[in-house]
Amino acid sequence: MIEGIAASSGIAIAKAYQLMTPELTYEKKSIDDPNKEVERLEKALTTAKGELEKIREHTRKEMGDEHAEIFSAHLLILDDPEMINPIKDKITNENVIAEAALDETTNMFVDMFKNMDNAYMRERAADIQDVTKRVMAHLLGVTFPNPALIDEAVIVIANDLTPSDTAQLNREFVQGFATDIGGRTSHSAIMARSLEIPAIVGTKEVTEAVKQDDLIIVDGIEGNVLVNPTDDELAAYKEKQADFERQKEEWAKLKDESTLTADKEQVELAANIGTPDDVDSVLANGGEGIGLYRTEFLYMGKSQLPTEEEQYEAYKAVLEKMADKPVVVRTLDIGGDKELSYLDLPDELNPFLGFRAIRFCLENESIFRTQLRALLRASVHGHLKIMFPMIATLEEFRQAKGILLDEKQNLKDEGISVSDDIEVGIMVEIPSTAVIAKQFAKEVDFFSIGTNDLIQYTMAADRMNERVSYLYQPYHPAILNLVNNVIEAAHDEDKWVGMCGEMAGDTIAIPALLGLGLDEFSMSATSILPARTQIRGLSKEKMTSYKDKLLAMGTAEEVVEFIKEKTE
Ligand code: PEP
Ligand code: MG
Repeated sequence: MIEGIAASSGIAIAKAYQLMTPELTYEKKSIDDPNKEVERLEKALTTAKGELEKIREHTRKEMGDEHAEIFSAHLLILDDPEMINPIKDKITNENVIAEAALDETTNMFVDMFKNMDNAYMRERAADIQDVTKRVMAHLLGVTFPNPALIDEAVIVIANDLTPSDTAQLNREFVQGFATDIGGRTSHSAIMARSLEIPAIVGTKEVTEAVKQDDLIIVDGIEGNVLVNPTDDELAAYKEKQADFERQKEEWAKLKDESTLTADKEQVELAANIGTPDDVDSVLANGGEGIGLYRTEFLYMGKSQLPTEEEQYEAYKAVLEKMADKPVVVRTLDIGGDKELSYLDLPDELNPFLGFRAIRFCLENESIFRTQLRALLRASVHGHLKIMFPMIATLEEFRQAKGILLDEKQNLKDEGISVSDDIEVGIMVEIPSTAVIAKQFAKEVDFFSIGTNDLIQYTMAADRMNERVSYLYQPYHPAILNLVNNVIEAAHDEDKWVGMCGEMAGDTIAIPALLGLGLDEFSMSATSILPARTQIRGLSKEKMTSYKDKLLAMGTAEEVVEFIKEKTE
């Protein structure tokens, strides 16, 4: 049995599908028969083009024309004589193998495009690199994984899954996934929860231990992977799978109930989403609002920035589907583990501490303004609230809000209607902001505590790094004290506080957060009904009476023991 971190609940049983970029190394050799090499190149090009056409078609059907465009760009490269002829010429003139000719020629183009002033041309460099890998794999006769083309039930095994890999997974066939690296709050884990497929991350060794087509079981409840189980194990896990389904039916009975504690105090249970498509699952799981719409997914997996119109349509769709329920939209939070290949931002030593989120937006004001305009225009279609990510200083908040108000005025001047009832808040993800929450509370309309980042910055433990995951402690008293500080500061100013980090849906954290007075809990849609069930059994008064004791504790372990004892 391989142990990992349970990232998304449920049991999956299926064949393994290894999703790994193969080794693409070759030995540069001279050849006697250039014609044969050119033929090999042509064959690899034809196979690559056939795959790209299928992937483009699949992407168009699943995700729309915009996302499919990137594959059209790849196809154009493979059809471009100015790209392909120099490769063939190199084979014939220098008598080298096709691999070397492909590698050297495309590298030359990549370097050339990368150094151009024009952003469009710089983006082409990334496309050429991508498509070259595919052709190279075919020349070398190694399998190049095509997650979008999976057409049978599988469990994906990978070292890591980037958010854009995860977005490509075919929901119909991918039953679950297991990775070597990552933590519960890495974005691939978060997306697994929104796809409602069982997932295990941070196993360190699953790609080594599992071979293509092995039968495996992913237990997303306990955090284990079983490889080639015995008949008895298989039967036991099928039983466990059926139990989980029955449990889900029980939870579903609370779908249309409001969220009341045993002593009839009300809290709000909202959901985190990444795309407008996720809203259906929020409603099906009884979400009372959207507490976090991660808009960066609109910007990812494409070849260029989304237009104002495209964004407007996405925001409008979410607001309309949610009717009058509140929708908190977070402005672009790019950086960290969420990259935009087409922006060609320089690599950083510490991306999570680097040029991301609001820092990026304030320096790239036109990108920020486009998003704000789209949001403001969409505001008339529902109950919109806007929040800024990664706020570290009051100046950042003031500057961001100033730009928002400026765009609002611009729209009004253009005769476009905008709601006058939009709350503007911030995410509390950085300790500096949690510490001076009192000062922030006078200026913001609300706080949403982003514990995924707040924990990593407070404990100095990278949320993606399984080697320090033991330090990534949501129940650490330092975290509880910061959360408490934010809630007290907000309530003193009659402002509300939500939490949209994964901690908000955690069964140990929920009783503590209830006692600290959290108003809104925003989580993966699938966590809402279990959380509602749990909250109905808890007394808020009792939890509040434990507050001082919890805040004075010395370790996370003491906190966990105490909560378990008091809630059994
Ligand atoms: C967080 O940091 O808690 C959060 C919700 O934002 P993200 O996970 O997208 O960084
Ligand atoms: Mg965050």
